Amino acid sequence: MTIERLTPGSSLQAYPPAEKWDDWLEYDVKQWPRRVEKRYSLVPTICFNCEAACGLLAFVDQETLRVRKFEGNPLHPASRGRNCAKGPATINQINDPERILYPLRRVGKRGGGEWARVTWDQVLDEIAGRIRKAFLEGRRNEVMYHVGRPGHERSMDRVLRAWGIDGHNSHTNVCSSSARLGYALWSGYDRPSPDHANARFILLLSSHLEAGHYFNPHAQRIIDGKLRGAKLAVMDPRLSNTASMADYWLPTHPGSEAAVLLAMANVILDEGLADLGYLERWTNWREFMAHRHPHAAPTFAAFLAALREHYKEFTPAFAEAESGVPRQTIVEVARLVGGARGAFASHVWRGTASGNLGGWQVARALQLLTVLTASVGTPGGTSPHAWNKYKPAFWEEPPAHEEWNELLFPREWPLSHYEMSFLLPHFLKEGRGRLDMYFTRVYNPVWTNPDGLAWIDVLSDESLVGLHAALTPTWSETAIYADFVLPMGHAGERHDIQSQETQSGRWVSFRQPVVRVARERRGETFQHTYEANPGQVWEEDEFWIELSWRIDPDGQLGIRRHFESPFRPGEKLTVHEYYRWIFENAVPGLPEAARRESLTPFDFMSRHGAFLIEDGVYELHKKPVALPEGAGPADDAGLVRAEGRVIGVEVDGAVVAGFPTPSRKLEIFSRTLEEWGWGEEALPGYVRSHVHPKALDAERGEMVLLPTFRLPTLIHTRSGNAKYLNEISHRNPLWIHTGDALRLGLATGDLVRVTTEIGYFVNHAWVTEAIAPGVVACSHHLGRWRLHEGEGSRWSSVRVTLDRRPDGTVLMRQVEGISPFVSADPDSRRIWWTDGGVHQNLTFPVHPDPVSGMHCWHQKVVVSLARAEDLYGDVWVDTNRSMEVYREWLAKARPGPGPGGLRRPLWLDRPLRPAEKMFSAPLPPEG
Ligand code: SF4
Repeated sequence: MTIERLTPGSSLQAYPPAEKWDDWLEYDVKQWPRRVEKRYSLVPTICFNCEAACGLLAFVDQETLRVRKFEGNPLHPASRGRNCAKGPATINQINDPERILYPLRRVGKRGGGEWARVTWDQVLDEIAGRIRKAFLEGRRNEVMYHVGRPGHERSMDRVLRAWGIDGHNSHTNVCSSSARLGYALWSGYDRPSPDHANARFILLLSSHLEAGHYFNPHAQRIIDGKLRGAKLAVMDPRLSNTASMADYWLPTHPGSEAAVLLAMANVILDEGLADLGYLERWTNWREFMAHRHPHAAPTFAAFLAALREHYKEFTPAFAEAESGVPRQTIVEVARLVGGARGAFASHVWRGTASGNLGGWQVARALQLLTVLTASVGTPGGTSPHAWNKYKPAFWEEPPAHEEWNELLFPREWPLSHYEMSFLLPHFLKEGRGRLDMYFTRVYNPVWTNPDGLAWIDVLSDESLVGLHAALTPTWSETAIYADFVLPMGHAGERHDIQSQETQSGRWVSFRQPVVRVARERRGETFQHTYEANPGQVWEEDEFWIELSWRIDPDGQLGIRRHFESPFRPGEKLTVHEYYRWIFENAVPGLPEAARRESLTPFDFMSRHGAFLIEDGVYELHKKPVALPEGAGPADDAGLVRAEGRVIGVEVDGAVVAGFPTPSRKLEIFSRTLEEWGWGEEALPGYVRSHVHPKALDAERGEMVLLPTFRLPTLIHTRSGNAKYLNEISHRNPLWIHTGDALRLGLATGDLVRVTTEIGYFVNHAWVTEAIAPGVVACSHHLGRWRLHEGEGSRWSSVRVTLDRRPDGTVLMRQVEGISPFVSADPDSRRIWWTDGGVHQNLTFPVHPDPVSGMHCWHQKVVVSLARAEDLYGDVWVDTNRSMEVYREWLAKARPGPGPGGLRRPLWLDRPLRPAEKMFSAPLPPEG
């Protein structure tokens, strides 16, 4: 047989043709220069290393039935065959000799480092018995699932709804809930979907090309846009790789971004660049006039005048004073934004929104530019995410639960956009509740969250957390404190559906266990995915089905029926049946596409890995609404109702869908904020950050620490098991501006102590011009640690001691760096690096934003030369002080209930939404 040529294109765009994937022949690169042929079955799957869900193609060796490598899947509509370094590095994670291969049960005390191998049956029986008992005793709020990396559309919601619990917790409040709230208040959709490829001007408020949200698919499209002539501006105090590719770098003082954006809005209005007709048609300005100027004529001209008055202080000179960015640059960029009318693409996700008090107002201010330039949902503009994201439907939906868990949505933050997840240990310590069964799923709060010592405290305390099962593909600083460590698959070892808003289309992709698939195609059968995976690595889908059956073996709890097959009534659902039903019934256009290739919808997804449902999705808010009989005429606000529910809004004489807001318009004025005690922020605005220069203690020499930026080669926890990635990136020095270094007498490589509100860490300095003066930065993807041998990947984690002192202070000290070790992988003996970086998050107190509930990551710090007793990697924390800071921020909150006794506005969504009546259920007494 001859070796096939790759499909045409440059060498960087060549892929095996899809019709050859079942039996692909190529030379074994490791045998070079000998020409040794290798046969592979190529099976598509999806990357699991960030949220972007890029396509991967697994090369399953037909001889060994092991995965040899992962490359890009050219059929994936978002990634189009391309990946970042973390995609192909999946092969490291699968073959890592340090990974967890079997379920483990703690032996001895929690955190003691002793483990025994157990069977999946033992795991399922013990956990199911515990959950069943809690349910029978009415303790439903004591069962909680806490997810770090999601990536399984709607599947966990379905499981938890079937269980009837308010038990979904997420990582979102240390990630993106601030930006989400800002977007949701405008349009009811909590994420943007910029159409970079068709934009005329792109403004990014964090490093999206390099490492941001939807990193690789967005990066490709930003470059597409640039190649078509778009200009790119990046607002970031740090010269990220993205900023280095931009036409404009605006190194703002952290937290000043909204001031700059509002100044740009003023320039756009001043210079006649705004689309006022759009503003008049599509914003709820009438509501603003009715509430704020009830005695004035309700005309658009009067609104415009009031708006101009409201924003008059935001001049370019003011923005320059706040941000440090020259006013001429602000004006120049504003003109380009205005000139891009209809094709202005923008994005803020983490970056400033996640760093600062009031960061959600940055998203509000950015979206104001999108609205002023009439770029909402247009080609080259910025759409709501839901237009570009697929969500599956199921053959039956469990009913909404009738619980409200105040450990997740406490009364103090009635508008918090997601669960107050990072405060869970503080709530447990305060006695607000306890957990009987706690699942962490690919989640490492001890290391990832602020105040990790509070997490260690509660996870070590069996009176607060009865049983903790860590569902994880890798060891983590959190799994150390679990009772069960349950190995779950990486990409290529599990089933999931995923879809993301990466472009102006809608697609669905299929993650699958590639070796199981390759072997099934050869005629083998498996009951469970772990039978085909390394060791007994499993997947959540099958785990939850099995667990649910054991919680409710006789069906009396009403749970089991939700995990019965839609094809074989009364029989246990299989994972194939779950996806088969969705692909046959709930993906528009897929059955037809499959038929054209003489495949079933399931086989189509299994062989292609992804499907483009629709392309070029724009302006869905203008979609006409078919009026049912009995639909009323539009009211004064233009709302049209049928059977008491709003079904559309009248705009220019036509009834159209609008947006899922109370007004069905874009809400420039948030009546919700006004009614829930935040009237001063009801328009897009500027909140002075907790790290604003006026909040810094100049005498102490306080600076601002940015601890949030990503290295493009790493992810939070799982990249610790990827040797390629750790070889590339294994240190996270402190970026410091040349001027600041001179002032402090520092040079690159010097050991510095970085003192926060509750402690300090010791790191090396990196002196650079690539950071704004007065600001320091440290990547959060390094500083992995382990307490005991066998509890962490030695490619990336250093061994530490945790010295807890009676006065509540704690010193973590590195006692063993990265070094070669003997394993089945000969590369482990060739490790040449010794550094694993420094863990900084332990030294951060919690900073819950009083509105969004987001942790405000940026820190006021003092940077000084290290002291004689300091060693590289030292982390010192005062845990008493950390609780004090928690209480200081708690005092900023404005508790509910809100109007009508509501716990939360009905129209604002929340994860695992309860039955509507729970929103108005009276709050139980405090304490
Ligand atoms: S951007 Fe990289 S890590 Fe993220 S899904 Fe794509 S290949 Fe994987």
